[in-house]
Amino acid sequence: MSAEPVLVIKDGCVVTGDAKDTRHDRADIVVRGNRIAAIGPDAGAGLAGAETIDAADAVAMPGLVNAHLHSNEGFEQGAYDNLPLEPWLLQSYPPFGFPLLSEEDYYLRTMLAAVESIRAGVTTVQDDYVHLPGTPEAQDAAIQAYLDAGLRAWVTVDLWDVGLLDCLPYVRSIIPQPIQDEILALPFTSTAEQLALFQRHFEKWHGRDGRIRIVIAPCGPQRCSPAMLREIGRLAEALDIPIHSHTLETKLQAVHARAQWGKSVVEYLDGFGLLSPRLAIVHGIWLTERDIALLAANGCTVVHNPLSNLKLGSGLCPVRKLLDAGVNVALGTDGLATSDTADLIEAIRAASLIHKPGTHDYAQWVSAADVFRMATMGGARSGLMEREVGSLEPGKKADIILLDRGAWGFIPLHDPVRNLAFSVTSEAVETVIVDGRIVMRDREITVFDEAAMRGRVREAAERFRRERVPAMRAGAQRLEPHIRAMYYRAAAEALPLGEAPRRIGANQRQS
Ligand SMILES: [Zn+2]
Repeated sequence: MSAEPVLVIKDGCVVTGDAKDTRHDRADIVVRGNRIAAIGPDAGAGLAGAETIDAADAVAMPGLVNAHLHSNEGFEQGAYDNLPLEPWLLQSYPPFGFPLLSEEDYYLRTMLAAVESIRAGVTTVQDDYVHLPGTPEAQDAAIQAYLDAGLRAWVTVDLWDVGLLDCLPYVRSIIPQPIQDEILALPFTSTAEQLALFQRHFEKWHGRDGRIRIVIAPCGPQRCSPAMLREIGRLAEALDIPIHSHTLETKLQAVHARAQWGKSVVEYLDGFGLLSPRLAIVHGIWLTERDIALLAANGCTVVHNPLSNLKLGSGLCPVRKLLDAGVNVALGTDGLATSDTADLIEAIRAASLIHKPGTHDYAQWVSAADVFRMATMGGARSGLMEREVGSLEPGKKADIILLDRGAWGFIPLHDPVRNLAFSVTSEAVETVIVDGRIVMRDREITVFDEAAMRGRVREAAERFRRERVPAMRAGAQRLEPHIRAMYYRAAAEALPLGEAPRRIGANQRQS
C-alpha cells in the first residue's frame, strides 16, 4: 500500500469531461496524492483513514483551464472603454511612461488574477506574461504568486524584437520624425538578451512543484524577427514545450501581413515550420479558409477569448468552422485590462452566447457543451497537457472543482454544463482542488489569509492608479492621434485574401 494521503469526494454529481462525456448522478472520486485513483458509485467505500468531503450537494467538474490571460494587467480592471486593440495597447502598454513596478507589486498584481481564478473554479492558468520592461526578479515574484496560491500555472516568456515603428503599418509616414527618434532612443532588449531571459526562467522555474511550466511566446509574428521565430521553433522542439502567440486578432494585423509579406500570418508562420501541435494561436479572428485548413492539417490550437474580442470590437472568431475542421479550440479570458476579469465562467457564458447571432442556421451555433470542452480539455491540449489535466479520469492530476448544487443558478439542475454556461455564476464555486491539494474549501481560500491578501493587493492597486496611471495616460496622449490615424487607414483597406470574420448581426453575410 502506498503511504500517499487519500481524499474521497463522496456522492457528488460528477461531470468527468472525458471523451465520452461520462457523467454520474452520484459517485465518489478517490484521490491518492496528487492523482485521481478511481471514480464511480461507492468507489471510496471502506477506505479507512481517508479524508472525506461530502459532495452530496455538489456538482464535481474538472478544474477549468484559462488558456490565455495576462496577469500583468491585474491593476487595470475597469480602466478602459470604447477602444479597439491598437489604441487600447497605446494606453495599457504606452511606449512613453510605462510604469516600472516593485517586485512586491508584481507579486500582488498576479495574485489578484490568481485569487479571481480560484474563485471561478480555474485550476490551470496559461498566463501570457508580458515581461518587458522589467527585471527577471520581478517576474520571479509574479510566478511565486502562483506557487503561493496553489494554482497550476503555465507562464510564458513573451518575446518580441521588432520595434513599434516596424510592427505597425504606415506609422513611419504618420508619426512625426522627432517622436520617431524618441521611440528609437527608448531602451530595447536585444534578441539574444530576450532568448537568454527565456533560458533563465526555463531553468529556474520549469517543472517547479509539478505545477509551474514555462512556455515560449512570440508576442505576435509581426513583432518577431525571422531569426527569433526560427530560434523559438528550435527551442520549443528541443525543450518539448508549447508555442503561444497572438495571431490575427485584428483587421490591422491582417492588412499588415499582406503589406509586409504578401500572405496571411498563418501562411507566414508555416514558412518557418511553426505550424504543429505545439502551436496555439491566440484569437485567430481574421483567418482565411486556407488558414483554417492549414491549422487543422497541422494539429494547431486556437485560443478563443470572447470577452476581450467583444470589448475591443476585434471581430468574431470562427469557432464553428474551426471545430468542424478539426482544430483544437481552447478558451481564455485574455488580460484583465481587456476582459476586465480572470473569471473564466464569464468567458464560458460569453462564448456560449455570441456565436448564435450572425447566422440563422442554428445547426451552426456553438453550444454550451462545445464551450465547456474548450474550457477544459481544449485548454489542456493547448498546453500539451491533455494526458495530465482537463478531465476527471483515473491517472490524471487531481484538479477538481465542486460547485454548490444549492446555488440559485442550479435550481433546478437540468444539465450541469448548461447550468454552468447560462445560469450559475462563480459564486457557485465552493471548493477547488489543485494537484490533490484543497486551495479553497466552502468558499474560503485555505492557502493564505485572503482578507490580509486582499488588503495588500488593494493598497498596491490603488497606489498604482493614483501614482502610475497619470504618466501612462500622458505618454499615450503624445501618440494617440497618430495611432488613431493608422487604425482608421487600416480599417478602410480591402482584404483580397478573404480574411472575413463573421460579425454579430451580419446574418448569413460572410463579408
Ligand atoms: Zn492576449
